Amino acid sequence: MVAESLHLRCLIHGGGNQLDSLGQETGTGVRASGARYVRLSAAPFETAGVTGARVGNCYGRRGSVSGGGGSVASLSMWSVMVLGSAQDGALPQFGARTALDEAARSGAIGRRFSSCLAIVADDGRVLLLDVGLDLKAHEEVLATNQAVRRRVVPVPMDGVVLTHAHVGHYAGLLHLGREALAAEAMPCWVTTKMARFLESEAPWRFVVEQGHLELRAHEPPATFEPWTDLSVSLIPVPHRHEASDTVAISVNGSVLYLPDIDAWDEWPEAEDVIGAHSTAFLDATFWSDAELPHRDMANIKHPFVPDTLERFAHLASTRRLVLTHLNHTNPVCDPASDEHADVLRAGFEVATEGLTIAL
Ligand SMILES: [Zn+2]
Ligand SMILES: [Zn+2]
Repeated sequence: MVAESLHLRCLIHGGGNQLDSLGQETGTGVRASGARYVRLSAAPFETAGVTGARVGNCYGRRGSVSGGGGSVASLSMWSVMVLGSAQDGALPQFGARTALDEAARSGAIGRRFSSCLAIVADDGRVLLLDVGLDLKAHEEVLATNQAVRRRVVPVPMDGVVLTHAHVGHYAGLLHLGREALAAEAMPCWVTTKMARFLESEAPWRFVVEQGHLELRAHEPPATFEPWTDLSVSLIPVPHRHEASDTVAISVNGSVLYLPDIDAWDEWPEAEDVIGAHSTAFLDATFWSDAELPHRDMANIKHPFVPDTLERFAHLASTRRLVLTHLNHTNPVCDPASDEHADVLRAGFEVATEGLTIAL
């Protein structure tokens, strides 16, 4: 698949030699406010899997993708792995004492980490979708993947794509900074608004300014190729916009990751977009409006699961619809609950950490 020819605006921080690390994302730049802004060339991206692919030095098996020498590459096999299936605060949630929180603490039901998917190639490359507060727990789940075990460096991913600026989706970036991993220019694909947020607000801007995170900004809707054999699309969705916009992420036109949306009625494209994918991970934050009696749930809008089941059940027979981003109050978190059974009866699945699906 040939990606769209896009005039992309990329924010590059650090030395000029980082231009080389961008592979086909090259261009000329000007300096502005301490950051190095580069407008990318208009040349179309290359056909997947052929020449010009950027190949890092960190994969356990070399040669599945050409490193620019002109040899024809074999295409990788990709899978998606669930590293986190909970709403931003995870299960159990800090300071919460619901029956579900206590069941998770006791081990009666499984713990759930902040929402995160890993896109994994059979050669060990890893692209994370969202980097939340539970990044260290995500690493433990990812370590069970056989392809990831073949990596020869300990850093468990080669890039990240973020959906939006709520803590369960980006706060784990701090693990990449000077006080922790001190990553070397980890590629981070985001919307233009999300890039502005990360480069302007402390403490995130320190991670960027110190060269640990390399922002690659796209104005959604946009399609780009992190590597020449992988295509990623950012699809705008309506969601609380305190600090950034919000996108769903489509990978190779096969998997849709949509952890947060305010309401299906506010997104007329919902059925078409979900129906275009063979696997869709969908926002299932709340079962009902009775889950947070001490809070005004109108301020934290999400579709309720029964509505989601009813709307999209007709799609479930021909594709995998996987519920994710479960709040710690959602009865679906308990596999023995009636609500969990209702989900399965409707033809949907419930995401669990470690679930792996081939793309
Ligand atoms: Zn969220
Ligand atoms: Zn959110």
